[in-house]
Amino acid sequence: MKTKDIIALYEKFVLSTYHRAPFSIAKGKGSKVWDLEGKEYLDFFPGWAVSGLGHCHPDVVHAIKNQARKLLHVPNNYYSLKQAQLAQKIVGRSFPGRVFFCNSGAEAMEAAIKFVRKFGSKSGRYEMMTMEGAFHGRTLAALAATGKYYQGFEPLPEGFKQVPFNDFESLKNAVGPKTIAVALELIQGEGGIQVANPEYVRKVRALCDEKKLLLIFDEVQTGMGRTGKWFAFQHYGVEPDLMALAKSLGSGVPIGALVVNNKIKEEVLTPGTHASTYGGNPLVTAAGLSVFKAIEKGKLLKNAVEMGAYLKSALETLKGKYSFIKEVRGIGLMLGMELDRPGAELVTQAREAGLLINCTQERVLRIMPAMIVTKRQIDQAIRVLDQVLGQG
Ligand code: PLP
Repeated sequence: MKTKDIIALYEKFVLSTYHRAPFSIAKGKGSKVWDLEGKEYLDFFPGWAVSGLGHCHPDVVHAIKNQARKLLHVPNNYYSLKQAQLAQKIVGRSFPGRVFFCNSGAEAMEAAIKFVRKFGSKSGRYEMMTMEGAFHGRTLAALAATGKYYQGFEPLPEGFKQVPFNDFESLKNAVGPKTIAVALELIQGEGGIQVANPEYVRKVRALCDEKKLLLIFDEVQTGMGRTGKWFAFQHYGVEPDLMALAKSLGSGVPIGALVVNNKIKEEVLTPGTHASTYGGNPLVTAAGLSVFKAIEKGKLLKNAVEMGAYLKSALETLKGKYSFIKEVRGIGLMLGMELDRPGAELVTQAREAGLLINCTQERVLRIMPAMIVTKRQIDQAIRVLDQVLGQG
């Protein structure tokens, strides 16, 4: 079957809710993928930040195979060893608390919204402050928190107020008697690789402490080592009360998680409060455990720091060469290059030249290679980018 045949099947049978490039990946290994026609590509945006270990990491494949032979699924009214072990691992690498498992980033944020509301219900507080430029997913409450893409889906759940990102005074002035939580991404991914400023994050934490608000960090995109630390909050020395995870936690299997600190667990996490049929089943939690192991064994946090610095400086060099590049920003391997013009065409040209990247917010090229990326691969990607930008 050729790509055009798959496209014909989609046109007949799959709802067209996505913008899709006329391109189909047949297999992947590490930072490389091959299309259906056998052409090789360097993937510098693997799986929309899901494939943080690259494609088909051997440890993840091994863990999935092993688990699939033993047991795929058990319901959450029984105990499951791998779920307990993965929760222990996540907590051990983040902050003292407990974990709720689900299947996606939106569900992790949905759980966060429900839990903070339950926490606030005693004092009649339910309102959540979120940030302009945020992205928290596509369920109705997550959309309300996101503050866009909701046209035609109203009415949205109430109780969300959006304020400018990185603007402490606006946040402080918007907090009212009904406010219970503040949610933010430390690096806004869909928002164009906008990095939270450390002073701002410290002030937000202090405000939350003072007003008894819960602080939620959405680490769906930044988590699991991408920024060179297990979680982006570790760059800031500021801990959240709740943290949402998904994407590279499973390196390709659908898993989401919400970590809730000890401050609130007793009051909200009672049986029957919230549920997910698949949440944390043996298959996905085995994969999650293998992701932690692979990062530890491969010293991939160190690689993310080193390769992130190498890639960033190469992108800075491109900025010096092309005046239409306005800024290079990001932490570790979560990088963006803002242009003074739309970038979609450059993404297409890069793909045709063998490099997969992304464009968000119309003008920001998003470059987020896997944590196993090498200098040679970065050099190769930069050569392609240079060639493509040179035509721009
Ligand atoms: N939160 C953030 C920061 C995200 O980047 C995304 C997805 O891009 C989500 C939540 C939603 O995740 P999902 O698509 O798995 O529901």
